[in-house]
Amino acid sequence: MKYNQKKTIKDLNLNQKTVVVRLDLNVPIVNGIITDDTRIIESLETLKYLVNNKCKIVVLSHLGRIKSLDDITSKKKSLAPVALRLGELIKTPVHFCSQNVGDVVVSAVNKLKMGEILVLENTRYQDVNEKNEAVKHESKNDLNLAKFWANLGTVFINDAFGTAHRAHASNVGVAFYAKDSGVGFLIERELVNLAKITENPKKPFVAVLGGAKIADKLKVINSIVKKADYLIIGGGMAYTFLKALNYSIGDSMVDDSMVLTCSQLIKDYKQKIILPVDIVVGNEFKDFLGTVLDVQADPILWEHKMGMDVGPKTIDLFDKILTEAKTVIWNGPVGVFEFSHYQAGTKAIADKIKEITTKNNAFTLIGGGDSASAYHQFNGKTGVSFISTGGGASLAYIEDTPLPGIVAIADKN
Ligand code: AMP
Repeated sequence: MKYNQKKTIKDLNLNQKTVVVRLDLNVPIVNGIITDDTRIIESLETLKYLVNNKCKIVVLSHLGRIKSLDDITSKKKSLAPVALRLGELIKTPVHFCSQNVGDVVVSAVNKLKMGEILVLENTRYQDVNEKNEAVKHESKNDLNLAKFWANLGTVFINDAFGTAHRAHASNVGVAFYAKDSGVGFLIERELVNLAKITENPKKPFVAVLGGAKIADKLKVINSIVKKADYLIIGGGMAYTFLKALNYSIGDSMVDDSMVLTCSQLIKDYKQKIILPVDIVVGNEFKDFLGTVLDVQADPILWEHKMGMDVGPKTIDLFDKILTEAKTVIWNGPVGVFEFSHYQAGTKAIADKIKEITTKNNAFTLIGGGDSASAYHQFNGKTGVSFISTGGGASLAYIEDTPLPGIVAIADKN
């Protein structure tokens, strides 16, 4: 899917306008402390551009999920700490409004001076009403809510790539009602880099897919296996493929409803699909030292064992395939990397990606979510060509599912 017809922030006349900007400030917060401010930092370019254009800036973002009034009264999902951190980073006045609808908001916007930022409270507070009912006004794109937010300014900028695959009031509905709209620098960056994977990738092109739920990734597997030279499969989803090959997998994670699909994929793309040949297994889903089993080992040895990471022979196999690669996309850890005893496979992928980015001058892209956290944990933030800020959104882009948050803008232009 191409989004060429969309306007970007640079196509808009923003001078001294009041601009509503949707960002993805959904940062992890533990006991009121932000533990990773990457998403705030990634949003700065657009905000600074708006400040330089003397705009009055109204920021919309969600933070986590709001399922009940407790999520609101506990303040655990409030954007207040985010507004504070943003103020430290951008060095322009940042105000916070503890509401996101009503007269209080209108009056806070009216008080804004040029070049100042107002962060409204978590948009998903509108998902639950005062009777504790899950009305989902934000998540189900309530048009009255969208209209209210759109009318706070004269221009709407969407720069929340992480939610671009969802049709919410704060991205899709607002774009519908806004007089003028465009995407910000972050979304533009994401689209330029993701296109390097989908449009004529440099060969050999290798995709590494892992993680837990195969059903969530089936669409991307189907689409990527056609384009890639090799599709490396690891993580929890590998066991469904191994079961399709009639190997014993003990108590490993498996999706029985997908075994036939995997079997067909293996038949259709025998040369391309690379599966683990040995596995580090544990007795239970805990961080204890594991043992290594060949996938072809006697079924008795697999009894009551659970696959937790790929084994050393598999690490070598994956390494060999990746050594020549000129384009790599990685989505999903190949083991339970959150446990110290089961990190080796995922760390090996992270290290190899770093190595070939320089050695092969390869284009390497990490598709957000857990693989991005794993890469950060092992190798920091550099050494890879691009780390997407949206796990689900980057997968949707690659499997060619239209991203409503961007379509809404492209449709208007
Ligand atoms: P996903 O959201 O589908 O990308 O899944 C990411 C999660 O998959 C991570 O939390 C990993 O711990 C988990 N994972 C990776 N390998 C395995 C495995 N062998 N068994 C269970 N979970 C796994």
